Amino acid sequence: MKLYNTLTRSKEEFIPLDGNTARIYSCGPTVYNYAHIGNLRTYIFMDILRRSLKWNGYELINMMNITDVGHLVSDSDDGEDKMAKTAREQKKTPWEIAEYFTGVFLKDIERLNISRPEIIAKATEHIPEMIQFISRLENKDFTYETSDGIYYDIGKFPEYGRLSGINLDDQLSGARVEINKEKRHPADFALWKKAPKEHIMQWDSPWGMGYPGWHIECSAMGLKYLGEYFDIHTGGVDHIPIHHENEIAQTVGLLGHPAAKFWVHGEFMLVNNGKMSKSLGNIYTIEQLVDRGYSPLDFRYFCLNAHYRSKLNFTFEGLDGAKKSLANLRAEITKHKNTENDISEDIINSFLTEFNEAVNDDLNIPRALGVLWNMVRYEVKSDLLYRKILKTDKIFGLNLDAIDDFDEFDLPETTDSKLASEIEEQIKLRAEAKKTKNYAEADRIRAELAERKIILTDTPDGTTYKIEK
Ligand code: AMP
Ligand code: ZN
Repeated sequence: MKLYNTLTRSKEEFIPLDGNTARIYSCGPTVYNYAHIGNLRTYIFMDILRRSLKWNGYELINMMNITDVGHLVSDSDDGEDKMAKTAREQKKTPWEIAEYFTGVFLKDIERLNISRPEIIAKATEHIPEMIQFISRLENKDFTYETSDGIYYDIGKFPEYGRLSGINLDDQLSGARVEINKEKRHPADFALWKKAPKEHIMQWDSPWGMGYPGWHIECSAMGLKYLGEYFDIHTGGVDHIPIHHENEIAQTVGLLGHPAAKFWVHGEFMLVNNGKMSKSLGNIYTIEQLVDRGYSPLDFRYFCLNAHYRSKLNFTFEGLDGAKKSLANLRAEITKHKNTENDISEDIINSFLTEFNEAVNDDLNIPRALGVLWNMVRYEVKSDLLYRKILKTDKIFGLNLDAIDDFDEFDLPETTDSKLASEIEEQIKLRAEAKKTKNYAEADRIRAELAERKIILTDTPDGTTYKIEK
């Protein structure tokens, strides 16, 4: 099985470091909001990797973290903690926010047939491991202290930038105005942030009360659950230049060698060929797609049509196409069921060989889907072929033997999630009204929500809301 390794920029043969078990670290969600369809594309990619490794007979130990502290609004160690910000806005504790959105995330991935990683661990439950990691880096002289935290000194790690191909000098000369003047290099990053008294999440540490930086959680938790060496590290491509470079710097600083052998990254999902953003009102959740009459597996099928290393442009026309094709595919498959027509072993084997080649060529799922369609459309209908077709679903995870499961995956909506989707829809309509300068309509929407004690606040990142009790 060949996988593209971002680190070496080439497809490499995958051979586990330890016997027959593939050990994988997957960067998990920051649970301050609903996962959007772009995030979920990345977890569908993680799932395809898991399924493909299993298809090849490997056992899996896949660890995924849940980021419930430390991920700041900006990647450059300034701004508020995303969890604390949402908690403040929604007048809840960060722990309540984390619990709610972790629950929604796990439900979302289940509906998408994403198999759960063997180990799921929360950052807030691993603060001692992170403190210990930072102390050890401090002992090795990789850190320095400023008035607001403990920073990693990348000047001590000349290989910094290898994963993304960044040249540090270029980065230095092109750097935007540095906000934190105490940092020695703009790319130095916080391992630990000192917390002001009123900061809601804080722990005691050798550097006083504070909270961990975002990157340290992955290095510390990876080390705890997967050890000093593991096979694969996954995440979205946006993580390459900062988050993953920083993880490598931390780990090599501590261990003297990298931990992950393969770095495998999923490309981004775009919407109407552009970035997803709150202000454009084009961030969709799975729940919103379900509300519009799509099943989560329609979305999964939509994603499987693009290779994980290609950008994928989301449009509702595209999703309509996926929905039709999936229904069609299932209908065609049933034509093979319980038929007696015989088919030669050679033909079946040649289909399966082609299928294997596609899967093992860096997870070429679009090609594997092509092979599936050829099997399904094969002129001779055969029960034997039917059984092989269903076997391929171990990779696709599309419930191919379900003829019409549109309702099967629509779990009952909770009152909370229904209300949240309704409010999000109103916020979107208001943003559209404002865009077309229809301020009367925008004000009407705001007033109508206010009457129901739903208060909107406009921020530079878009509109947020809180529900007054
Ligand atoms: P976050 O919860 O922000 O830490 O993101 C969770 C995962 O989603 C990360 O692996 C990101 O790389 C990934 N991600 C974020 N935006 C997108 C997008 N538009 N398309 C695909 N993956 C994304
Ligand atoms: Zn991570």
